[in-house]
Amino acid sequence: MYAPKVGDSVQSLDTPSMVVDLDLMEANIKKLTDKLLPTGVSIRPHLKTTKSAILAKKLAAAGCKGGCVAKLSEAEVIAEAGFDDLLITCEIIGAAKVKRLVELYRKHRQIRIVVDSALGASAINEALATSGIEQPINVLIDLDVGLHRTGVAAGEPALALARHVRTLKHLKIIGIQGYEGHLQHLHDRADREQQCLESMRTLTSTAEALRQDGFDMGVVTTGGTGTAEFCVTVPGVNEVQPGSFIFMDTDYRNAVGPFYSNSLTILSTVLSRQGPRAVTIDTGLKSLTTDSGLAECKDARYVYGVLGDEHGSLTWENDGTPALEVGDVVEMIPSHIDPTINLHDFYYAHRKGVIEEIWPVDSRGKVQ
Ligand code: PLP
Ligand code: MN
Repeated sequence: MYAPKVGDSVQSLDTPSMVVDLDLMEANIKKLTDKLLPTGVSIRPHLKTTKSAILAKKLAAAGCKGGCVAKLSEAEVIAEAGFDDLLITCEIIGAAKVKRLVELYRKHRQIRIVVDSALGASAINEALATSGIEQPINVLIDLDVGLHRTGVAAGEPALALARHVRTLKHLKIIGIQGYEGHLQHLHDRADREQQCLESMRTLTSTAEALRQDGFDMGVVTTGGTGTAEFCVTVPGVNEVQPGSFIFMDTDYRNAVGPFYSNSLTILSTVLSRQGPRAVTIDTGLKSLTTDSGLAECKDARYVYGVLGDEHGSLTWENDGTPALEVGDVVEMIPSHIDPTINLHDFYYAHRKGVIEEIWPVDSRGKVQ
């Protein structure tokens, strides 16, 4: 049976395989913590990128505090895998999901959630009231700071929601979340900074208004890979949620530059020669996503194209470029890291070509 193991060489892996360069990944973590931790702001990495309890623990060992997950079903598997200091950053809506939340919370009391509606908050309160669990669940008010995805509007609506939650015995407000996802990939750094500071003003002024009304605003959480460095300069912000920095992708590299390195690649094999300057590789839509543009070959002389679910092309411009041949192995850099990882079962983490660790993608496919 095919069972790659620690100590094997990366070249011995079947393809497509997801491989991580540990030296580069560890350097990315160090760059993040060196840059952000001295400001006193906590880092709660978003695990929608890694989907891995092992990596959550590595990040915690490097000085991060807890983690974020997008969805409840991600929290279930990451908590079960041994890491349960988790903020679920999406609203939990619907009877089925609320029931799952109660069962998760019964076992994992560190779970924290966000709410952006009175309806949503009341449903969770009622489910907890009949559960026999005494301890109220920690809740953040989710604020819209310009993304217009989720979040209550700043000002009076946020205050009204918080006052409603105050009447609910089984929910305890511990702070506020305001995620400026629309700014993460802005290419113009000055523009990204300026718009981020504007979003942070919305967030911190709402936090202050809620504080004035008697609410505990101990947690003011925000930020991603593209903005965290700006968020941490704002007084009143005390937690950031970057995720992609650990592996990066071409989309983020194009936006924020080379500060973090692309530490994850998809190993691919050349299956067929197709003319003088084209080959077909075994890597298509089922192993690399295209929502943020096309993946790139690590060797930039070869240009990737999609040839369907299982196949891709690599072409080169001129005859001076060494031709790829059947059986050659290439490394592809994903264009969007989180959904690409979601296509793979395992990470093969290597140092200088020797596999050092193998990690399961715990929350792969956990979309609920
Ligand atoms: N916080 C929230 C709520 C998010 O949805 C995301 C990403 O979508 C992040 C943080 C982290 O983003 P990134 O991977 O861009 O660092
Ligand atoms: Mn993403």
